[in-house]
Amino acid sequence: MLGKLMCKLNLGHKWHVERTEDGTRYRRCTRCGKDEDDSGGSRLIMDAGG
Ligand SMILES: [Zn+2]
Repeated sequence: MLGKLMCKLNLGHKWHVERTEDGTRYRRCTRCGKDEDDSGGSRLIMDAGG
């Protein structure tokens, strides 16, 4: 599936707005379950090999 590949390569996630018990809203990918990284900056991490 292309979607999964997009997630794996971190090219695109299918964000869905979720809410914690506190009422804080955050976004999570419905495909891979990843929480949106809000640390800022655009750092590209590349794994060599593997
Ligand atoms: Zn994803």
